[in-house]
Parts: sequence; structure tokens; C-alpha cells
Amino acid sequence: MTWRASAACLDSDTDFFVNSTSIGRGHHTRASEAPALKLCGVCEVTTECLDYALAVPEARDFGVWGGTTKGQRTKLRRQGGGHHALHSTGV
Ligand code: SF4
Repeated sequence: MTWRASAACLDSDTDFFVNSTSIGRGHHTRASEAPALKLCGVCEVTTECLDYALAVPEARDFGVWGGTTKGQRTKLRRQGGGHHALHSTGV
């Protein structure tokens, strides 16, 4: 997952990131979705991050990934799409 080296959240030490040893990247807590989503908005690897989150259950069902919340990813999965569906439906 080389895209992680370019993640906007990679070196973030703000309080909305919680370390995860199981996945090896930062997670965002539900209470802090807004600032996490704002950071995703300036991230260069949002597409790669979302694709990963949709493919990996440990990521898919927790926190903010690729500019989406858990609820938004659930909706995307039901629609059968990834980042392409995200941008075409405005999720
Ligand atoms: S899209 Fe968001 S969660 Fe994913 S790497 Fe970028 S900043 Fe982190």
C-alpha cells in the first residue's frame, strides 16, 4: 500500500486520530468525523484510501476513510460501487 506514504493523515498527531496496530494507520473516531473529513478533502490519495476501505472489513466498518463515513461506505457497497459511485451520486 504505497499510497499511505502520501496520506494527509500519515503524520497527524491531532486528537481525532487513534492508532490502530491491526491496520497500521490512523483511524478517526466518530465524534471527530468533521475534522477528519476536512483533512481527507485535501488528501492526494483519497481514491486509493476509499478503495482500500471498501475492500478490507476492518477498515470498511470503522471510522473515516477516503473522505467517507461508515454510513456512506455502507451506502456505496449497497449501490455496488466504489469511488466512482461516490462521485457520481454525491454521497
Ligand atoms: S483520504 Fe483521509 S483517511 Fe484516507 S489517507 Fe487521506 S486523509 Fe487519511
